[in-house]
Amino acid sequence: MRNWLFSCLALIFSTTILQAQKTLIYCGHLIDVKAGKVLSQMTITVEKNKVTGVSTGYVAASPGDKVIDLKSMTVMPGLIDMHVHMESETKKGGASDRFVLNPPEVAFGAVKYARTTLYSGFTTVRDLGGSGINIAMRNAIAKGDIIGPRIYTAGKAIATTGGHADPTNNYRKDLMGDPGPYEGVINGPQDAYHAVRQRYKDGSDLIKITATGGVLSQAKDGANAQFTEEEIRAIVSAAKDYGFKVAAHAHGAEGIKRAIRGGVNSIEHGTFMDDEGIALMKQYGTYYVPTIIAGKSTADSAKIPGYYTDIVTPKALATGPQIQATFAKAYKAGVKIAFGTDAGVYAHGKNWLEFQYMTEAGMPMMEALQAATVAAADLLGASATIGSIETGKLADIIAVDGDPLKEIAAMSRVRFVMKDGTVFKSESNTQP
Ligand SMILES: [Zn+2]
Repeated sequence: MRNWLFSCLALIFSTTILQAQKTLIYCGHLIDVKAGKVLSQMTITVEKNKVTGVSTGYVAASPGDKVIDLKSMTVMPGLIDMHVHMESETKKGGASDRFVLNPPEVAFGAVKYARTTLYSGFTTVRDLGGSGINIAMRNAIAKGDIIGPRIYTAGKAIATTGGHADPTNNYRKDLMGDPGPYEGVINGPQDAYHAVRQRYKDGSDLIKITATGGVLSQAKDGANAQFTEEEIRAIVSAAKDYGFKVAAHAHGAEGIKRAIRGGVNSIEHGTFMDDEGIALMKQYGTYYVPTIIAGKSTADSAKIPGYYTDIVTPKALATGPQIQATFAKAYKAGVKIAFGTDAGVYAHGKNWLEFQYMTEAGMPMMEALQAATVAAADLLGASATIGSIETGKLADIIAVDGDPLKEIAAMSRVRFVMKDGTVFKSESNTQP
């Protein structure tokens, strides 16, 4: 009797394993980003959180299989934005937020931005700097407590005294203090190690440095070199100890070159990159994350009286419009490009506009999609799990209404979002 019961249980157990539910996704068109091709009438098989097959035709469902019909859509891997700020969003007079918003208020706002980002088709993002709420947010999303993209976060960015990301810039002198490595402000290689190790303790996934001045900081120069090459080398060397990659915000030509020679993995913005900088990017294999949309939108906002402070406005007007031309030059020269937008500097959810700007500057749409999938995954060091729809990879799959290779605005019509095997958005392809 006992034996009989045991074999019954064993049978039930084994059939449960064998009949683990499959989801079949029928794709009218499927963009194979690795091959740079569009395939028609394909089926993606998903089991649990992974892709277990990609087949031609619409594979017949077995009993118990779930079918998702995307026959009228264009399906592609979940998009990856390599430069976002999940904690904030631009608004007129927003410079005073840091004095009036409590951390919980920042966090609740960020919940909305995360949801918007995922629903816009971005299943993974790299957060390049905030207060540390971005770390808590990454964990909350990973646990399923809130809805958002998978986040790789830098936590708090690392600057030098008075530099872009020194949190006390332009404070009244008696409030300014002298923040140190704990808060991400360094001077010298010793501090660099301290700051990187603190980021490790905080739970960051990577390191962000501000190699030059920046547009939106309350400081005079938006492009000056703000780290010595020795300091950058120390950051990179410390980062390697912890398996961190290093992203360098950089506008000015000299700071860009120091960062590349110092060994960073990506240059963000790269606005005033000169020919020597472009040659160094190629020599070192450094990725360029252009954020054209950030340049354009900050320049537009700067034309609205009172949008930015008086110290920021001229920088936004001078810097913003330049990025697209630099991108065009770098792309033409063969620099490695990863898609990134600086979301938060403009309204979250409009990330897709970067595709428009990249193609305007000469990059074919298929390559722009590769920049937002395979290339971005490579820069993250996550090619084994994300960036393409392939057997064994995580099931990060989106679908848009239309053909983005013919009409880029189709990227604004994301109708289906699956992240890690879970469907977060599923709509009919009717126009809004
Ligand atoms: Zn940024």
